[in-house]
Amino acid sequence: MIDAKREQVVENAVILIDGNLIKQVGQNLSVPKNATVIDLSGFTVLPGLIDGHTHVLLQGDITEEDYAEQILKESIPYRTLRATVACKTALMNGFTTIRDVETEGAMYADVDLKKAINNGIIDGPRMFVATRSINTTGHYLLRNSGYAWELHMPKGVQEITGADEARRAVREQLSYGADWIKIYADRSYYQIADGSFRSIPNFTAEEINAIGDETRVSRKKLAAHAVTRDGIIYAINAGASSIEHGFAMDNECIDLMVKKGVYWCPTIYVNVWVAEGRAAAGNPINKAFNDLLPVVFNKAHKAGVKICFGTDAGGFAWTENQAKEFSYMVKWGMTPMQAIKSATLVAAEMLDQTGKIGEVSPGAFADLIAVKEDPLKNISALEQVAFVMKNGKVYKRP
Ligand SMILES: [Zn+2]
Repeated sequence: MIDAKREQVVENAVILIDGNLIKQVGQNLSVPKNATVIDLSGFTVLPGLIDGHTHVLLQGDITEEDYAEQILKESIPYRTLRATVACKTALMNGFTTIRDVETEGAMYADVDLKKAINNGIIDGPRMFVATRSINTTGHYLLRNSGYAWELHMPKGVQEITGADEARRAVREQLSYGADWIKIYADRSYYQIADGSFRSIPNFTAEEINAIGDETRVSRKKLAAHAVTRDGIIYAINAGASSIEHGFAMDNECIDLMVKKGVYWCPTIYVNVWVAEGRAAAGNPINKAFNDLLPVVFNKAHKAGVKICFGTDAGGFAWTENQAKEFSYMVKWGMTPMQAIKSATLVAAEMLDQTGKIGEVSPGAFADLIAVKEDPLKNISALEQVAFVMKNGKVYKRP
């Protein structure tokens, strides 16, 4: 068993589970006579993994047309049916918890998915949901350009203009069941002469501060899509707890994130997945981010930024295993143990769930996975999960 908390491997581990909770963990513990025994000797056991950035209501979109195809031709019920498959996929991939950071136009369907999972109607991970996300008027898909102007195109976010609408959006989303508030802090990335990247901040200071303020007083947390300093610094100063993507963060961003304890979900794999296709469609910026990201990742990790495993699954097709993210993290400077911590202990901490998920400890939920190969020797072993238990129930076994 990999004990990421104590950064050690425990041979001959016995995990005693009572109902949905872990009761006792240790080496060669005696097993009560009436216990059901699941023998995972020959496997490596870990706590259930956590993906800090998913979209179960999306099915991968390289171009704006791919996105429009889903938003315009699939009803919200149809998209939700597809999302039930995504939820099951995430669980079978070994992710017993996800933070799903917005429905991309599917309104509050994530709240229903979470409810259906919690009520045992469908199989899926524990979900923390962000509902509709917030951006300013005209700054998100579907854009009005490209369609007849007399049509009111559906939007992938809740659009606001002004601080009052910003507050209203947060209050509405929380009233419908949002666990997190998600914003899109910047857009329209471009490179300047010195080689660094900039963007346009989406919100005025009044708007973004109103969102941060409203989120904080409700004792919820704010996740901010932000790619360059023009989004990252604004969002952190408004109280964001996590920066999503952050591909082009500079040293000042890194220092600020360390100082304020802000989490970073690097979402490496989605950028790899979209880069070639977007370049072919005339937008090569993701290729530039691919070149930049190894350096940024290594620098942020060394500086002590709290990196939370987050993939943007759904931004890429759910047929791709989100655990592919691990290999990049290790290639770019993390030890396998650090990458595992990122998807367990660090993610649990971001979600304010320390002690409940992301560790194999007495009192924690019985969320466990097992893999055949040792992921400390070969991190891609986590792409081949053989056993999944969530909340004491087995969903997959060798
Ligand atoms: Zn995303």
